[in-house]
Amino acid sequence: MVDKLKKIWMEGEFVDWDDAKVHILTHSLHYGLGAFEGIRAYRRTDGGTYVFRLKEHIDRLFDTCKLLAIQPRFTRQQVADATVEFLRQNDMQEGYIRPLVYMGDGPMGVYAHDNPVRTTVVGWHWGAYLGKGATESGIRAKISAFARHHINVGLPKAKMMGQYTNSSLAKREARIAGYNEAILLDPNGYVSEGSGENIFIVRRGRLLTPPLSASILEGITRDTILTLAREEGIPASEEMITRDQLYLADEAFFTGTAAEVTPIREVDDRTIGEGQVGAITRRLQQRFFGIVRGEDNSHPEWLTRV
Ligand code: PMP
Repeated sequence: MVDKLKKIWMEGEFVDWDDAKVHILTHSLHYGLGAFEGIRAYRRTDGGTYVFRLKEHIDRLFDTCKLLAIQPRFTRQQVADATVEFLRQNDMQEGYIRPLVYMGDGPMGVYAHDNPVRTTVVGWHWGAYLGKGATESGIRAKISAFARHHINVGLPKAKMMGQYTNSSLAKREARIAGYNEAILLDPNGYVSEGSGENIFIVRRGRLLTPPLSASILEGITRDTILTLAREEGIPASEEMITRDQLYLADEAFFTGTAAEVTPIREVDDRTIGEGQVGAITRRLQQRFFGIVRGEDNSHPEWLTRV
């Protein structure tokens, strides 16, 4: 259950939490045409609250709108400002922020030509997405029976609402079977991503993750980890990964705004490496948490002070 906050930004103004309602004919509720983002804000050791990679998240929101051919009534700057102001209005020192651009009520039918394009920014307090202790000890994952959308079926570079039914089906299947998270293969059998995370493996000291031309979201945490790997001198490449490469990995981990950097200690009941958090994963995790929460000031361009 999400704890109630005070205010939600809707269509250019803050309204009380309980008043942030939509009509049942809201088009996106029926057909899933809409864009959203997930952004984290952290309290750092200097006592300040910072939004992590705000610009990149807002740019991806607008990229998703472009892919869906919808035009928000607000500018990038207005949505970015609303995100920061949301934290202030709710006295949040840390949290998860969720901007949405969706089709409001109006005509029905899939065309959605004359429906109003509505914009809102909500958020909530969110701890470790994959469960308590997940970032420290790792999680158990299952390869899903559901494939990720083929690149010509969905728009994997869009963080769009309807595409997430695929994620929910995979996640539910994995959880019901007793695992923490699903790993989806693409229709050709290559590893694509988790239900809400990108995936990395380490094999013989080399870091691998699927390329952007694969059926994956262009994750901002993925980009962060690739940048940090370069800085740490860890050889990294973006290439297609097969299921057996994943099983044989020395280390594996998920990245995502919600999941942060979460080690994977088991896939389909096969232990990954020693079943512990591997050395490269640990190093990258330490850099990541040092930047978002700690005293690592090497990337001020990634932090927006609230
Ligand atoms: N893939 C999917 C399907 C996701 O939903 C997410 C979360 N936004 C990611 C990857 C990771 O992206 P990011 O690091 O930008 O949160």
